[in-house]
Amino acid sequence: MKATVLYGAGDVRIENVSDPAIQEPTDAIIRVARACICGSDLWPYKSMQPSDRGRVMGHEAIGVVEAVGADVGTLSVGDLVVMPFAFSDGTCLFCGDGLHTSCLHGGFFGTEEVAGAQAEAVRVPQADGTLVVLPVGEDDALMPSLLTLSDVMGTGHHAAVDAKVGPGKSVAVVGDGAVGLCGVIAAKRLGAEQIIILGHHPDRIALAREFGATDVISERGDEAVELVRELTGGFGAHSVLECVGLDQSTQTAIEIARPGGAVGRVGVPQDEVMPASRQAFFDNITVSGGPAPVRAYIDELLPDVLEGRIEPGRVLDRVIGLDEVPDGYRAMNDREAIKVMVSL
Ligand SMILES: [Zn+2]
Repeated sequence: MKATVLYGAGDVRIENVSDPAIQEPTDAIIRVARACICGSDLWPYKSMQPSDRGRVMGHEAIGVVEAVGADVGTLSVGDLVVMPFAFSDGTCLFCGDGLHTSCLHGGFFGTEEVAGAQAEAVRVPQADGTLVVLPVGEDDALMPSLLTLSDVMGTGHHAAVDAKVGPGKSVAVVGDGAVGLCGVIAAKRLGAEQIIILGHHPDRIALAREFGATDVISERGDEAVELVRELTGGFGAHSVLECVGLDQSTQTAIEIARPGGAVGRVGVPQDEVMPASRQAFFDNITVSGGPAPVRAYIDELLPDVLEGRIEPGRVLDRVIGLDEVPDGYRAMNDREAIKVMVSL
């Protein structure tokens, strides 16, 4: 089959690799119908050390079940399923707590160990716990929005939950990428009164406003902090969603939270040390977040997508075929596209 293989920074190729096969009785194989390129794929795209073996990329997909292992009980060949970016058994201690990304038998797609989904097919470990059957056909108009449940919509929601967004609160979203935009959707959905987006790409800001952002700040650093305070009665926001992961964006996120506020971090941190530690301490700011347990959130978010209350699929502003994936990486890296969907 054809798959996307990253061999090093800037070196992404479409190659023939061996077809995936059932390895464990809990596995399923899905034929990929839609996949995505993720903002987090751009980190290795920019920085991966050259490798002879390469890495099959991709962790977001909707597919059709082609084969199941002997122990898989909830899925049938032909089911259309959404695949969260992490696999999980759904039964262990941490899955029981709703933290499927810490599953004792779990892991992540698109890694050295488990091949990714920017490919014609993918092996899904722990298939019963991981995959969710969708009640639509694979040409349904809702496919883009359903696809965001595999990562960016669940991740934006996680940022909002960890930032303790609720009715009447002021919310600031740091970052106008796909996750930040989904964070705006999540904040509105959870009842925020004021939603300030910090970003500077005109097309993304326009979409953020359509999703419910009430204010836009395009400045950065100290200027941005000052402007958020002005918009929030001088205090800062109750809830801050950090959707970038860089040192400066994290610093800003903590500085724009009001005393007693909360920061939900979902941008993959690119530094070992967290900035603004003293401010977080003296202002009693809760800083939490991490990889989103999107599997846990699908049950809650799926009805809103199916009934049209949210349209996160609008962040997928470019659709390409598998052969065009290398150019899709380039387009996202050059900020020509917010997020790229691969249609197979
Ligand atoms: Zn588990």
